[in-house]
Amino acid sequence: MGPKFESTFGSAFAIIEEIERKGGEAFIVGGSVRDYLSGSEVGDIDIATSEPPKRIQEIFEKVIPVGIEHGTVLVRYDGESYEVTTYRTEKGYQDYRHPDEVTFVKDIKEDLARRDFTMNAIAMDRHGEIVDPYKGRQAIEKKEINAVGNPTERFQEDPLRMMRAVRFASQLNFSIESRTKLSILEQVDLLSYVSIERIAEETIKLYKGKGFKLGLKLITDLGLKPYLPQLNKIDLIRTIPYVSLQTWPEVIAYYTSAYSEAGVKEWVKEWKLSNRSKRNTEALLNGLQEYERNSKLTQWLLYNLPSYLYPSFSRLIRACINIDDHLLQKMEEEKFHLPIQARNDLAFQAKDLLLLYPDLKKGPWISETMEKVEYAVVTSEIPNEFEKIKEWVSKWNPPANS
Ligand code: ATP
Ligand code: MG
Repeated sequence: MGPKFESTFGSAFAIIEEIERKGGEAFIVGGSVRDYLSGSEVGDIDIATSEPPKRIQEIFEKVIPVGIEHGTVLVRYDGESYEVTTYRTEKGYQDYRHPDEVTFVKDIKEDLARRDFTMNAIAMDRHGEIVDPYKGRQAIEKKEINAVGNPTERFQEDPLRMMRAVRFASQLNFSIESRTKLSILEQVDLLSYVSIERIAEETIKLYKGKGFKLGLKLITDLGLKPYLPQLNKIDLIRTIPYVSLQTWPEVIAYYTSAYSEAGVKEWVKEWKLSNRSKRNTEALLNGLQEYERNSKLTQWLLYNLPSYLYPSFSRLIRACINIDDHLLQKMEEEKFHLPIQARNDLAFQAKDLLLLYPDLKKGPWISETMEKVEYAVVTSEIPNEFEKIKEWVSKWNPPANS
């Protein structure tokens, strides 16, 4: 076990050691073990333990009870968060949403049995020893997604797993093992029982994945498309983006700009996304329109697009148009050189305008004029200097009613 191993899992091992010292048992489980074994970058680290949540709350100082009824707490340690979940089995899933019953168990192997795919059902102790009853390592080597146990039963327990299979295929560039695949084909309609929020989470991870082209092909081939609002009306193969998209606003802006009859409002509503997502999508689309109108980045675009959306915007452009230049870097540099960064930076403000026309009644002409000033300064038509702006304003626009 090299330094990479230590730097990746160091604090998680300290948590495990602490649990062991108090007489319990704990393992690293799930995605981080899979990603470590396949040589990919490790994301969030999940820990499974024999100890009930109450006990974990006693052992550690900072514990947030995020899902205590199914045995999960968040342990804050060394500035990081770790999900610590008590070994459990799940029974029921009558409503295809939540298991009817969560039972805490004492054996890690029982906990691994409830997990979706063999590659996700591997546990690792703090010495790097592996517990792998379902041959998950072999599946990882074959780059294969394999249901734990009987796939038909596993998808009936929780049909979301069908979407998860496809999103993992995209994320890892793995194929879906044939029995598992067949069983998705056979009972894909169960997906209609799953909440849209859960489907949305897997869908966006699919778009983010390096294998998103494979993922979108699988969505189509396995018949999952009807369960994805609005996307179900689009040919997902003929409209494949040039690069992967990372957020919902990017995905929605991508499709609504060219391939979707529906507007942003419908997409956001049907996918139950937030108002913030809606606003961000609209801002991206405004930027995209401005870009397409001018066939390039303009100062006005860079000025109006909130800079936190620059990374999204550059991905969106690269997804739509096959350009491989350093768009984001260019955007940031050019933003830095804009004459002003915000309306407050204008050397001539609304109050100055009022002084210029002291006899005029207040009205919409103020903001209209200020918008023109703003546009002219941002686009370098006039310099951001008080006298120059004043002169410009008096010349071209004595307000109509003066
Ligand atoms: P990611 O890299 O996206 O975080 P992950 O494998 O960690 O991938 P999570 O959704 O974070 O995926 O779930 C953590 C683990 O919990 C999984 O690896 C799997 O063992 C188990 N799991 C999660 N959701 C399900 C599910 N619906 N059915 C069965 N097991 C699940
Ligand atoms: Mg995870």
